Amino acid sequence: MPIHITLTRKTRIDDPTDVLGRTYFGWDPDATAETNWAANRGHWVLGQRARGERYVLFSFVDDREIVMAAEIDDIVEATDKPGKKIIEGALLQPGHPVYEAFVGQPQPESARVRNPVTYLDVTVGGWLCGCGCGAEIYVGEFVRGHEQTALHQRVARIGTIPEFIRWFDTLEAGQSPETTRATAIAVEGRLELSVTAKGATTLRFTPVPA
Ligand SMILES: [Zn+2]
Repeated sequence: MPIHITLTRKTRIDDPTDVLGRTYFGWDPDATAETNWAANRGHWVLGQRARGERYVLFSFVDDREIVMAAEIDDIVEATDKPGKKIIEGALLQPGHPVYEAFVGQPQPESARVRNPVTYLDVTVGGWLCGCGCGAEIYVGEFVRGHEQTALHQRVARIGTIPEFIRWFDTLEAGQSPETTRATAIAVEGRLELSVTAKGATTLRFTPVPA
């Protein structure tokens, strides 16, 4: 749930005590993103909820579009403005999954409120690779190549690749409507279900000798 901050239009400040040494705050469409980030890291009212947040997104009030994203290292007190906070971190660049997911997108509806600081109800990264390796990913289900790991782990539970294929084909055949048709057994007998450690199953019917 990233922090989302709506920026006003560029507003000049002439305050020699400003700890960020800024000449303006707000969004300047003519300045570089780095300059805009430096001008807008503070001074925000960020409560407990901001603690532990990893990303901050900024949108511009005029065009209602997300214009910058940064990864947060820390949130510190603004020594020159009691109660206000400064975000320390790094501006994200094109190619970063969070940048690609958000920058250029319309400002979320939930952020269109009076308070410039909101928290978006979306997941940003932080989910784990589907192979169980514990790596954090931002897009898809696997770290590139790890779907192979996940697949081979499953093959290994059955045996070799040919064994796995035979097992899988048997499984598929078993699910076809042809073989799942109900069968009535009209004679007395013994029904045995055997399962091997590799997951192969056999069902055997032995009629009671007449
Ligand atoms: Zn993995």
